[in-house]
Amino acid sequence: MAVVPIRVLPNPILRQRSKRVRAIDGSIKKLIDNMLETMHAAPGAGLAAPQVGIPLRVIVIGIPEQEDIALINPQIVRRTGERVVNEGCLSIPGYVGEIKRAVSVTVKGRDQNGKEIRIKADELLAQALEHEIDHINGVLYIDHMESLDKLRKIEPDEKQL
Ligand SMILES: [Zn+2]
Repeated sequence: MAVVPIRVLPNPILRQRSKRVRAIDGSIKKLIDNMLETMHAAPGAGLAAPQVGIPLRVIVIGIPEQEDIALINPQIVRRTGERVVNEGCLSIPGYVGEIKRAVSVTVKGRDQNGKEIRIKADELLAQALEHEIDHINGVLYIDHMESLDKLRKIEPDEKQL
């Protein structure tokens, strides 16, 4: 495993639509291991493959006191409700912005063994899933803000995605 550099704006890879993973082989498992280690070192609560320079549809999530999640070709199949959250991104270091996210989401995808999984999530996990799935579509949280004037400096204890 290795910590890899996190790509930051204006790196164009962050604006690409990532490709679907066709075969879950050793290279994908190694990518997931590296992403998990990089996320924990950051420290972050989630990371998407394009953030480490690989334009594939792979995301990891690490919410404190919950088991880490790795998802391949994740897709949001249901969104309910709306709420205002503060959000930061490891690829936009130092800032946080207020945006709207769903109250809960249902996501399906595959795990590292190729098994189809479905996750129903709320709170930070739902927010992280929406954020990381945005990344693999080339979307950043600042795209959901009404104005970039509303970005503020991050506090030391705030997690980034
Ligand atoms: Zn991010």
